[in-house]
Amino acid sequence: MDDFSLQLNDEQIQLRDWVHGFAEDVVRPAAEEWDEREEFPYPIVEQAAQIGLYGWEFLANATMNDKSGLTLPLAIEELFWGDAGIGMAIMGSGLAAAGIMASGTDEQVMEWVPQCYGSADDLQLGAFCGSEPDAGSDVAGYRTRAVYDEATDEWVLDGTKAWITNGGIADVHVVVGVVDPELRAKGHASFVVPPGTPGLSQGQKYKKHGIRASHTAEVVLDGVRVPGRCLLGGKEKLDERLARVREGKPGNAQAAMQTFEATRPAVGAQAIGIARAAYEYSLEYAKERHAFGRPIIMNQGIAFMLADMATEIEATRALIWRAAWLGKQRAFVNAEGSMAKLKAGRVATWVTERAIQILGGYGYTREYPVERWHRDAKIHDIFEGTEQIQQLVVSRAISGLRIE
Ligand SMILES: Cc1cc2nc3c(=O)[nH]c(=O)nc-3n(C[C@H](O)[C@H](O)[C@H](O)COP(=O)(O)OP(=O)(O)OC[C@H]3O[C@@H](n4cnc5c(N)ncnc54)[C@H](O)[C@@H]3O)c2cc1C
Repeated sequence: MDDFSLQLNDEQIQLRDWVHGFAEDVVRPAAEEWDEREEFPYPIVEQAAQIGLYGWEFLANATMNDKSGLTLPLAIEELFWGDAGIGMAIMGSGLAAAGIMASGTDEQVMEWVPQCYGSADDLQLGAFCGSEPDAGSDVAGYRTRAVYDEATDEWVLDGTKAWITNGGIADVHVVVGVVDPELRAKGHASFVVPPGTPGLSQGQKYKKHGIRASHTAEVVLDGVRVPGRCLLGGKEKLDERLARVREGKPGNAQAAMQTFEATRPAVGAQAIGIARAAYEYSLEYAKERHAFGRPIIMNQGIAFMLADMATEIEATRALIWRAAWLGKQRAFVNAEGSMAKLKAGRVATWVTERAIQILGGYGYTREYPVERWHRDAKIHDIFEGTEQIQQLVVSRAISGLRIE
């Protein structure tokens, strides 16, 4: 096992500066427009694809060739510092790619992950469809059925998925379906729905509080037929797993938990990117804004707030980086991935709210970006496991008890 170190290597520093340059020159200037339009920012994502930031190769380099685990959080923090809505538009296909990599065979990964991205000339998107209108946190409550048709070697998917990033506009949809309802969450399997498959359509597109440049919609699956090879992991492995569960033998819950834990630090890095944007902006503002004949930062009431904001951001980044390193070593002890995501969501929501306070009336208007950052930050208390679900995971890990 490599030692944990906060020391970045030359490649990581270069990557951080490169992503920061794109975030500063392209993403930040476009943020307000796409937030107002509430549309997927295709021209910006195309630019990201042109420079190689949007693409499966980027994801592969940032994850596979990095023993420290820090490269991906580093890049994500910079991108989300630019803008979280556009950041999600660029990173959203990664949810589908991660779903394919978590359950797929090597051949399936090679076939489908590149199709979640396409190329700069032919942009493609991926969507991961887990959540449903009646079941978000409670994955055991999913109702989307996946039924095998032996005669044609096809799977038939029926149901509705809710709040899906890139839902309906994606080329590749990864769908979690219920194969055996009696086994609850252990009876699920994941399927790739290839581009243009009949029966898959977009339901309502949500009008959101924040990250409005990221497209979020329902996905309706009405008799969607996919070939047997679209079952991630393959039928033999699924049958074996279901048989084991039916016999009451332990499944691979531990491995699945490690996978979820390993992705959470990256989500924390998104939140901390937003927090840093708001902190930096309000620090500069506090130096320039005068009240009672002096810059407002000369009041301890404001300066101490900024000191706390800086401290929380630094502490959270250290937590995220250590969790990312633990994830790389598959060495989580107390659900540190969940701890990092829990803390980062709360810090981003708090820091961005404080930033509005420092800007006063201006902070409350759309003329300044801090209200947008506050709206964007809040999603990090909700998606990829809510605040309470992270607490549940951490409390179970520290106690060894099945806390409900
Ligand atoms: C913008 C956006 C993008 C999203 N993108 C995707 C996506 O791409 N793919 C996808 O599959 N999903 C996606 N989601 C869905 C997201 O993951 C869910 O919204 C989230 O998991 C919460 O589920 P829920 O909304 O059903 O809330 P619920 O599960 O109904 O929870 C409601 C409240 O109850 C609390 N609660 C629930 N259970 C417990 C418990 N046991 N103990 C204590 N408190 C509890 C929750 O913490 C929350 O505060 C997205 C959501 C949003 C808003």
